Amino acid sequence: MHAARALVAGNWKMHKTIAESTAFVRELLALEPDFDAIDAVIFPPFTALAAAGEALRGSLLGLGGQTMNDADSGAFTGEISPLMLLDCGAHWVILGHSERRASCGETDAAINRKVHAALRLGLTPIVAVGESAADHAAGRTHDHVVLQTSAAFDGVTPDDVARCVVAYEPIWAIGTGLSDSPAAANNVMAQIRGSVSGLERTRILYGGSVKPDNIGQFVAQPHIDGALVGGASLGAQSFADLIANARVNATR
Ligand code: PEP
Repeated sequence: MHAARALVAGNWKMHKTIAESTAFVRELLALEPDFDAIDAVIFPPFTALAAAGEALRGSLLGLGGQTMNDADSGAFTGEISPLMLLDCGAHWVILGHSERRASCGETDAAINRKVHAALRLGLTPIVAVGESAADHAAGRTHDHVVLQTSAAFDGVTPDDVARCVVAYEPIWAIGTGLSDSPAAANNVMAQIRGSVSGLERTRILYGGSVKPDNIGQFVAQPHIDGALVGGASLGAQSFADLIANARVNATR
């Protein structure tokens, strides 16, 4: 049996100043999203994390970092540690986003170290996996995402795997407006769920051009427990609409 509550995660990427981030939080909370029925988490840029954490304090809106290093501290110029995320009030972290894999050279082994570090410190990782357009066209989606998922959770006990979240994000669907079909995504996510012991107890999100008007079709699928959203998470009204539409259609 999977987790019952849907999760909507907003990955802001390299968008929003401190003032814009706190204004977003105030505007979103004023819209009174129904956090009793759904989990929602925002992932601001590092520079705005503490201020956003301050602005959402006392609410049920969650806060996370877009990546982190696996070390607690050290000579890693430009890096952010898990302890620093916790220090800002963040309890979530996205690990292995395809943009980090592609432009920062993040390997499966590095992502696995980060998963262990996050779990050791009580952060909830959202582990992102997904195939390129070429792998998709060549019919290698299943092999690719199962390999990425197994590598990310190497050495993690099933109980700890169950504390994580996975996001299936076909790279060709990210930021393109070309979302996968809900049924096709659900198929891949069923394969991901069966690939590592513990994932049968966790949430798996779909990501890739999710909008308020299509999120309902995704969360209505049996293996889709929510969404990791980029562009459509940047506006407070749009994020509130994502939460409302996910809540209405979530099947579990
Ligand atoms: C993402 O960045 O993880 C993402 C899914 O972006 P978008 O929703 O804009 O496709």
